[in-house]
Amino acid sequence: MSRSAIDALHAIDAKRSAVVADLKNQLLLQLKSTAADLNAIGGHVRIINTSRMGQLTDKPCKICGFATAPAHDGRKHVRYQKLGAFATFTAAELKDMGFKRIK
Ligand SMILES: [Zn+2]
Repeated sequence: MSRSAIDALHAIDAKRSAVVADLKNQLLLQLKSTAADLNAIGGHVRIINTSRMGQLTDKPCKICGFATAPAHDGRKHVRYQKLGAFATFTAAELKDMGFKRIK
């Protein structure tokens, strides 16, 4: 592929990203306005950005304190709940589940 074709593709990608970002901003403004109108007449509307909800990070788990690869969080422990408390994982259990302890 020629350099000019690659440059043209990058330009198209950049333009597309700009159009999508602009459209998202316009729609978000409309949504906020609509939510405000609904709340003004007694509605209970709140806008939540879910784009990062449920994403795992490489921070240590709050239950067992281990950072693993792939990452896990407290939700993983729910399945292994023992006697009403969240169970921590042993090294063997982590290995069986396909996790490698990194911290
Ligand atoms: Zn954990």
